[in-house]
Amino acid sequence: MRLLTFRYQHDVMAGLQEGDKVLPLPWPDVHALIQSGMDQVAEAAAAAHPIPLDDVQLLAPILKPGKIVAVGLNYLDHCLEQGLTPPAEPTLFTKFSTAVNHPHGPIRWDPELTSKVDYEAELAVVIGKRAYRVSEDDAYAYVAGYTCLNDVTARDLQRRDKQWVRGKSLDTFAPMGPVMVTPDEIPDPHTLDIRCWVNGELRQESNTRQLIHTVPKLIAFCSRAFTLEPGDIITTGTPGGVGVFRDPPTFLKPGDEIVVEIQSIGRLHNVVGPYLPQAL
Ligand code: ZN
Repeated sequence: MRLLTFRYQHDVMAGLQEGDKVLPLPWPDVHALIQSGMDQVAEAAAAAHPIPLDDVQLLAPILKPGKIVAVGLNYLDHCLEQGLTPPAEPTLFTKFSTAVNHPHGPIRWDPELTSKVDYEAELAVVIGKRAYRVSEDDAYAYVAGYTCLNDVTARDLQRRDKQWVRGKSLDTFAPMGPVMVTPDEIPDPHTLDIRCWVNGELRQESNTRQLIHTVPKLIAFCSRAFTLEPGDIITTGTPGGVGVFRDPPTFLKPGDEIVVEIQSIGRLHNVVGPYLPQAL
């Protein structure tokens, strides 16, 4: 199933995408649908009146995740471009839920705060059930679905602060979508082509088979330390080709168009909006 959160006229709701139609579902968003257990979707969809996909505004599938757990250095090719040895254990950090942004939503920042903003195309896992101390073998039972996430990063803040909270969590720095695809359509998330374009130029091109720490490993590793709840996001890391490691380094600027595409999920499109006005 391809599930989405969307706005239609003035209402926000969950829906099921079928081709160029959306079947509106009786939940306020995909997060609420996941929390309901997801077992009544087919019945609700059968009773729904379809809306043309073109008439709806897509929103982030999960509008306010309880947490966004992110993984650094999780693609072999991204490690190699930095001359680093792949880490034996996942390196976790977080992005605040206030960073969530929608498909086509503008990515914006204050130019006095950062001048080195970069893209990171990532496969994001949406948690479906409360998970605490879950084994790798059982981990797939805790997945609600998969989506694209752009782990937008202020490299200068990331470096200067020595830890990554500000650099990863500016408002608008976590675009997500366009839909959440359930595991029946993606039985193995480690076979997916992943690409990122900036202004039509292919910048990142890899496949999730390059993931060093797999989805079950990440769920087991996270849930050994803390509870994962329905709607939480684990974003699995980015492949090589980010702007900061280009020669010369290139960073995003207003007007840039960024597309993150993952096979079987779709294309997440965002534009860098005008700079935020100076604060205070
Ligand atoms: Zn990342």
